[in-house]
Amino acid sequence: MAADESTATIGKRFAGINVENTEENRRLYRQLLFTADTRLEESISGVILYHETVYQKADDGTPFVKLLQNKGILPGIKVDTGVVDLLGSEGEGTTQGLDDLGKRCAQYKKDGCQFAKWRCVLKIGKNIPSYQAILENANVLARYASICQANGLVPIVEPEVLPDGDHDLDRAQKVTETVLAFVYKALNDHHVYLEGTLLKPNMVTAGQSCPTKYTPEQVALATVTAFRRTVPVAVPGVTFLSGGQSEEEASVHLNAINALPGKKPWALTFSYGRALQASALKAWQGKPENVKDGQEEVLKRAKANGLASLGQYQAGSIQSVAAAKSNFITAHAY
Ligand code: 13P
Repeated sequence: MAADESTATIGKRFAGINVENTEENRRLYRQLLFTADTRLEESISGVILYHETVYQKADDGTPFVKLLQNKGILPGIKVDTGVVDLLGSEGEGTTQGLDDLGKRCAQYKKDGCQFAKWRCVLKIGKNIPSYQAILENANVLARYASICQANGLVPIVEPEVLPDGDHDLDRAQKVTETVLAFVYKALNDHHVYLEGTLLKPNMVTAGQSCPTKYTPEQVALATVTAFRRTVPVAVPGVTFLSGGQSEEEASVHLNAINALPGKKPWALTFSYGRALQASALKAWQGKPENVKDGQEEVLKRAKANGLASLGQYQAGSIQSVAAAKSNFITAHAY
């Protein structure tokens, strides 16, 4: 589960339900997620946290890190510090956070985190992603991954190709293949131990405003084909981001990916933020009397995606209050 929204990003989620973005409300919301009953750990093996959350406690004084560990859920930490512009590019960016990263990783490891996340973003447009952006983002991901491994954290490598635009499925597939090929070349250049990494990619979907609509089977074939061409067999797992898909779409697509016949030598599973939390936020509304309802919603999506990661999810079989609502946000920042 990605619960590592930065303070600004969780503020946008809270604005949608009229909840004030205070440290206490952020603590109460994350407590809702992490104290859902034992069905949570049946489908969720790790939670990505934001710095502030690593050092927060539940109402009874138990640190969140300890609470998760007691459930058998691994705590992880977002270590990038966000996206900045690349000079001379057509609106492209790179991700910052390498300064002091070794020191920060060592501290997070001491404080109970076992893995880390770093998100890079690539955009699709007429002339982009550029060589400059593809090369830079691959290299910064590789530097991040090597620093994590030197400090005993498993790096989740996230090169997200954004869904903004009207490009078709073929174009999304080709861009994803090129980006992943650069990423794995850079990881090799930096001596990263692939068996100790996870890939967190976008699914290959057409641009958000593409007029052509594709079936889940077409999305699955484009996604798995891109990986077969670029992701080494040594990589143990692929943990998809949801990228603005609705909760139900993200479950149906993940299921189709796992149901696709043919070679798939990696675990293909989920590390969703929006597609696990949209219904929980909507049910909660910041009210203590709604905590149980919010927890039921996140448990439903966890269950649906757990089934989808085995290819056993029936479309529409698990209903949640925001299941069909698009979670797309233009040029999404995390
Ligand atoms: P979404 O699933 O909301 O795209 O976010 C996952 C994530 O961790 C992005 O870095």
